[in-house]
Amino acid sequence: MNAEDVILEVSHLEKSFGSHDVLRDISFQVAKGDVVSVIGASGSGKSTMLRCVNLLETPTGGSILYHGEDITDPKINVPAYRSKVGMVFQSFNLFNNMTVLENCMVGQIKVAGRKKEEAEEKAMAYLKKVDMDAYINAKPRQLSGGQKQRVAIARAMVSHPRLLLADEPVASLDPVTGRQILTLLQDIQRTEGVAILMNSHNLDQSRAVSTRLLGLHAGRIVLDSVPAAVTDADLARIYGGAESEAAP
Ligand code: ADP
Ligand code: MG
Repeated sequence: MNAEDVILEVSHLEKSFGSHDVLRDISFQVAKGDVVSVIGASGSGKSTMLRCVNLLETPTGGSILYHGEDITDPKINVPAYRSKVGMVFQSFNLFNNMTVLENCMVGQIKVAGRKKEEAEEKAMAYLKKVDMDAYINAKPRQLSGGQKQRVAIARAMVSHPRLLLADEPVASLDPVTGRQILTLLQDIQRTEGVAILMNSHNLDQSRAVSTRLLGLHAGRIVLDSVPAAVTDADLARIYGGAESEAAP
C-alpha cells in the first residue's frame, strides 16, 4: 500500500464515558479502494468508533489522521472536515418535509455554499446513479426503506467525499434489499473511488462486499483480515469467547 493511498489512520484510539472504557487501543487504516466492515456483537463499540471518526464523539486518547491531518486536534475545523466525509445511517435521517431532490441539495447550498443550479446538477447526477431519478419530487414517507437509503447515499456522495462512513446501513432493511444496498455501496466505491468504512452485524452480507473485516470485541480490535481468511476461531473470538465487558 502506498502511503499516499492511506485515507484514514486510527492509532491507539480510546474512548471512555466516565469510568466506562468503550474503545481501547484501536488502531487500523482505511486506504483508497477499501470497503472495510466493522463487525462485532451489540455493545462492542462499533457505533462509538464511527462516531469518533466523524467527531460526533470526542476521543479520550489516541489519534485519527485523515490524509495525514490529526482531526482530534482541537484547532481542527470540524464542519470543514465533516463536509469531506459522507455519512449514512441505519435510520436514513432524511428531512421528511423536503422532496428527494431537496434532500440532496440542501447541504450543498447551506454547508458547501454551492449555487442552486450546480447543487441541482450534482444531486440529479447522483440520484441517477442510485436509480432514484424518477422520484425527485417524492417525499421520504412515500418511499420504501431501500429507496430512502438510496437517496441517503446520493446525498452523502454529492460532496465527493473521499471517505464514506455508514453505521448499520442495512440493519432496517429486509435481507434482499439489504444486499442490493450493500452491492450499491460496493459499486459506488469502485466507480467513485470513495473508501467505505461501515458497521454491520450481518456477517455474511458484509463478507461478500468488503475488502477487509475488522472485528471488535469489548472495545478492542480482535480481527483485521481479508474476508476469505476469516476462520471460525476468529468468529468465536468476536462474537463468543470471553464475556463481553461492554454488556450492561
Ligand atoms: P455497538 O454499535 O457495537 O452496538 P456502541 O458503540 O453503540 O456499540 O456502544 C458501546 C458501549 O458504549 C455500550 O456499552 C454503550 O452503552 C456505551 N455508550 C455508547 N454511547 C454512550 C454514551 N453517550 N454514554 C455512555 N455510554 C455510551
Ligand atoms: Mg451500533
